Amino acid sequence: MTGTTVTGKRYIGRFAPSPTGPLHFGSLLAAVASYLRARERGGDWLLRIEDVDPPREQPGAGDAIVRALEAYGFEWDGEIIWQSTNRAKHDRAVETLVREGMAYPCGCSRRDLADAPRSALGIIYPGTCRNGCDAEETAIRVRTTNDPVGFNDLLQGEQLQRLESESGDFIVLRRDGLIAYHLAVVVDDHLQGMTEIVRGIDLMDSTPRQIWLQQLLGYSTPDYLHIPVATHPDGQKLSKLTGAREIPLRGKRRVLVAALDALMLHPPADLAANTLPDIWAWAFNNWQIEPLVMRSAVPVDADAMAKLENPVS
Ligand code: GLU
Repeated sequence: MTGTTVTGKRYIGRFAPSPTGPLHFGSLLAAVASYLRARERGGDWLLRIEDVDPPREQPGAGDAIVRALEAYGFEWDGEIIWQSTNRAKHDRAVETLVREGMAYPCGCSRRDLADAPRSALGIIYPGTCRNGCDAEETAIRVRTTNDPVGFNDLLQGEQLQRLESESGDFIVLRRDGLIAYHLAVVVDDHLQGMTEIVRGIDLMDSTPRQIWLQQLLGYSTPDYLHIPVATHPDGQKLSKLTGAREIPLRGKRRVLVAALDALMLHPPADLAANTLPDIWAWAFNNWQIEPLVMRSAVPVDADAMAKLENPVS
């Protein structure tokens, strides 16, 4: 077991939840997978709470996520990073992009862009303010090109986007003064020396924009593993009840085993009868990424789902 990557750097991974609500089953999967992967590689696993979007946050959710992770027996390395404390560094990165001519102020409102074409990534910015804008309140957008931006996801294979035609120039600093997710995540992953990012597949189409920012800012690009989304046995997305509801603090062992099962590790039927540390020990010994390769969804079995909905201690 080595703590270093092929490039000789020490492995550093992370879990980076946004405190928009409590920890739910989908985010538990990302936490478990990123944790087991970091331990497998003998590296560090960092916890970063991405609290840079107050309008979307739920008061107390950051603390609740930390408490839930603690209760489930996760052990992160070092201090928890609260992303909002890095704001000055995010601003410096935006300033660099503007100074180098790689980003520019944009005064377009949502209404101005109502008729803009759309892609799977959302509005394709038509470049209205690329050559200047005299609005008082502006966002900052980063320039894009149609050169392909690609990466080889270690689970999902080759991915590629042409940003100019798929998203257009995108926002790094919002008109309301808040920093955009893509910018914050890229700066913080760089500052924390992240070598690999394990997260949900719902973020995979954000990755080329993040790699583009890494390239413009002269940062290295980590490896990526986008894990499948958990679904009901019939393939439906998890309901509000099971998908978005807070993972219970009673019945933790069953929920953790359900997560290991959803990650296709095939835990034995009686694993939940063990203590949490024993369940983790089993998980460390049995973790592997192979069953998740090229899978975009994993079913949570009906029995595990019932336990999630109806936890008992
Ligand atoms: N904070 C993001 C979220 O909770 C995840 C960021 C990431 O893992 O890159 O959706």
